[in-house]
Amino acid sequence: MGKPRIAIVGASLGGTVAAALLQRSGTETVVYEQAQSLSRYMGGVHLSPNAMKVLRRVGCERELHAIGAHPDFWVSRDAESGQPIAQIPLGDYAKSRYGAAYLTVPRSGLADVIERALTPGSIRFGKCLRCVEDTDSGVRMTFTDETVETADLLVVADGAGSTVRSHLLGAVAPHYSGYVTHRLAFPASLLGRRPYDMCAKWWSRDRHLLGYYLTSARNEYYFVTTVPQQFWPAGMVTMSTTRNEMREAFAGFHPDVRRLMDISPSLSTRPLLHQNSSPIWSSGRLVLIGDACHPMRSTAQGAAIAIEDAAMLARCLNEAGPTLHQSAFALYEANRVDRIATAHRLSATNAWMRDDLDLSWFQGYDAFDVPLKLSTARAVIGTADHRDGDFVGDSSHCWRRQPMGPTGASDGFEAQAFSRETRASRPLTGTMPEV
Ligand SMILES: Cc1cc2nc3c(=O)[nH]c(=O)nc-3n(C[C@H](O)[C@H](O)[C@H](O)COP(=O)(O)OP(=O)(O)OC[C@H]3O[C@@H](n4cnc5c(N)ncnc54)[C@H](O)[C@@H]3O)c2cc1C
Repeated sequence: MGKPRIAIVGASLGGTVAAALLQRSGTETVVYEQAQSLSRYMGGVHLSPNAMKVLRRVGCERELHAIGAHPDFWVSRDAESGQPIAQIPLGDYAKSRYGAAYLTVPRSGLADVIERALTPGSIRFGKCLRCVEDTDSGVRMTFTDETVETADLLVVADGAGSTVRSHLLGAVAPHYSGYVTHRLAFPASLLGRRPYDMCAKWWSRDRHLLGYYLTSARNEYYFVTTVPQQFWPAGMVTMSTTRNEMREAFAGFHPDVRRLMDISPSLSTRPLLHQNSSPIWSSGRLVLIGDACHPMRSTAQGAAIAIEDAAMLARCLNEAGPTLHQSAFALYEANRVDRIATAHRLSATNAWMRDDLDLSWFQGYDAFDVPLKLSTARAVIGTADHRDGDFVGDSSHCWRRQPMGPTGASDGFEAQAFSRETRASRPLTGTMPEV
């Protein structure tokens, strides 16, 4: 049997990098994306060496070096005094210690570079997945335009609030975290003559602002905030915030931050939503990666983690061989679950890179070189907590243990496709907040 035909839902970082890696290994891969193009992405993204090592493998490193900014340090500053709390070396230090550069890049530029690494035409835009059915022999996807496509396997990369995940486990909408965020990219000339750090985060007790250059020419600057706000109206995606409201939110901050408020036009405010990690990482022919599986909070590393997931999944599919997708999915989870748990623990403290930290565990990671751990049955059927009784998963009707098939897990059970009569034909609804 040849390699499986793989469909991916979601053409953001996890989905496109997975597609590029799979295509390089000779696997026919198509990505379905609800948006009409990738150019809608705004703002910036941090590409730490662990992500850059993956992007190197799909031939994107040189182009990213050309467009992105190369911060020498991540500087953490006290909100009021502006005094450095920590200076974490990046630049040449990151290259020699972790084996790749640390870049900050425009998100749209990153999307363009990765898109060029894909087989032309392999992203199908304007395809919003509505239903998915895991048949015995493949995956059947129905889109909101009523077209139907099939594949052997489906990689679910449709982000936080994943509609496919809701389909599998029942809809548990992300909840409001009590924080909002503002993001703005603007010409760096507006900063005036005063030098700003290449990458700095100003920290107060309850809010912070991360600012950095987006381009190697340092002609574009970007900031993103996290600000507490007690309520957020249900169903609202964005609200506008006036300059005066921004000034008020950052009133006690150092003049360098207040200056950012003075040069900002009115901004849009978005809620920061929270969703727990999925209790399952795969189901039959479906496998989850990135924010669809384990949304990251407050770390500026969610993109890198999604890229790592894509790399590990591609590696495990290769290791397991073309027919053993369940073994591949189990291996993938077994090799990601501890790392994600550590990242989540750190992100929950909302202090990632606040103090001098030894980040070698994070930035030094290479998804293609790290020794593989053997998979366990737990990886196939979800967390140990879900293994008592006949049903697994967080809904009593979601998963039923079945005798193992010839390619199944080692404990004699496999997570069979979600019960088709209750889930498979239920329409997928809901939209993703823009990232
Ligand atoms: C304010 C903010 C700033 C951030 N800054 C950083 C940063 O600097 N560095 C960093 O590493 N991370 C950052 N993150 C986190 C990062 O954006 C996410 O962790 C990362 O984008 C996750 O990638 P993903 O591919 O898993 O999913 P997403 O990026 O969420 O992409 C999901 C894709 O799936 C598509 N989709 C959804 N549903 C469907 C459907 N039914 N059919 C078809 N397509 C669908 C969506 O349109 C989207 O393109 C930030 C997050 C926020 C909120």
